[in-house]
Amino acid sequence: MKGFVDKPSYIVELLEGGVTLEDVIDGHICEQALVEKSAFVVGDLGALMRQHVCWQSAVPRLQPYYPVKCNSSPAVIEVLASLGLGFICANKTEVSLVLEHGVPPENIILSGVCKQLAHIKHAAKNNIQHLVCENEAELSKISRVHPGAKLLLQLTTEAHAAETSMAFGFSLKSCRHLLEAAKELGVQVVGVTFHIPSSCQDLQQAYTHALSDARVVFDMGVDLGFNMNILDIGGGFTGSEGQLKQVESAVRPLLDAYFPPLSGVQVLAQPGSFYVATAFSLAVNVIGKKVMNRHWDSLTPGVNNEDTEFLYYMNEGVYGPFSRKLLGNCIAVPSVHKHALCAEEEVFPSSLWGPSLDQLDQVVERCLLPELSVGDWLCFSNMGVCGLEEFSCLSSSPQLPVYYTVSTCDW
Ligand SMILES: *Cc1c(COP(=O)(O)O)cnc(C)c1O
Repeated sequence: MKGFVDKPSYIVELLEGGVTLEDVIDGHICEQALVEKSAFVVGDLGALMRQHVCWQSAVPRLQPYYPVKCNSSPAVIEVLASLGLGFICANKTEVSLVLEHGVPPENIILSGVCKQLAHIKHAAKNNIQHLVCENEAELSKISRVHPGAKLLLQLTTEAHAAETSMAFGFSLKSCRHLLEAAKELGVQVVGVTFHIPSSCQDLQQAYTHALSDARVVFDMGVDLGFNMNILDIGGGFTGSEGQLKQVESAVRPLLDAYFPPLSGVQVLAQPGSFYVATAFSLAVNVIGKKVMNRHWDSLTPGVNNEDTEFLYYMNEGVYGPFSRKLLGNCIAVPSVHKHALCAEEEVFPSSLWGPSLDQLDQVVERCLLPELSVGDWLCFSNMGVCGLEEFSCLSSSPQLPVYYTVSTCDW
């Protein structure tokens, strides 16, 4: 194992000959055990490359545009930029970050349905032409400060509205009106974007509606003289190959019918979680422990009966790297470091809490774990969807260390 400095901002450890990610986590746990036992993050850059290979073989027609908000660590941006991905940026800061990594402006889309004027100007100044738009107020802002923009109109989908309980995008009803307004203002419309979240239960139905609606918008656009050539089918890819194949089998026949390759329409997608979710793991330390019975009376520690429930406190919680929990996402039960559970070992109802002693700071609700001790380490996998800022500024320690690795075979 040897480390090398790749960029002043982060260090990537190259894993040689059979050294695994678990070994790396072990190593850092040993180091931490000697100091403060602070939580830390391990990022496996090889996972990004493996996901890219999976994407390209499963959905070769879908050009991946990575939404920066999913995880904006410089190492992630650098690897994805070198793999040739496009980027979806929600604001000026994200645009600057991506440009700094040498991404050409034509591979960047400024998303967001309500954008600050200064951010639209910044896009214009940096030759970023592709902007998302869904309403007239936005249209008139764009026509004033970025008249050369090429717009992707954000079409609403039921699945997206259901997830956010907010109406995102324009409906088919208002479509002609919006296109005519663009025409009047002299702003080009070049395509349509929509989003179907991974929580959607009926993918087939959702994509059928969205793609046939998109076709209607394309036809209207062409009617009005626009050169409609970009279709963006959004995100909603969890990261599992099985789910990607499900989306593919829902989408491909529809694309072949409505937007066949010969139509010359470029088809994009926005895989965010898909690329980063599995690439990051978080190790946290157990800093406190309480034993309760079902009636929430304290029991003598170690008493072992079926009423026993353990509460464990960890050194990070929802005001740090588990902020996703506050947004209603479930955090999966962690593995216990260096603990292979044997069949006859007893497990207990347990819950995992952050350090704030705040009611909201429950990271994992009731789960079954062997009895832990203060000082034990827990490893949470699938922690990649979260900005690096969240790894640092909100957590109890001033900056959570992030250790990047890549194995020689991925390299
Ligand atoms: C967050 C986001 C996505 C993708 O997120 P997934 O978790 O990959 O579905 C896609 N597009 C936009 C505009 C987003 O904000």
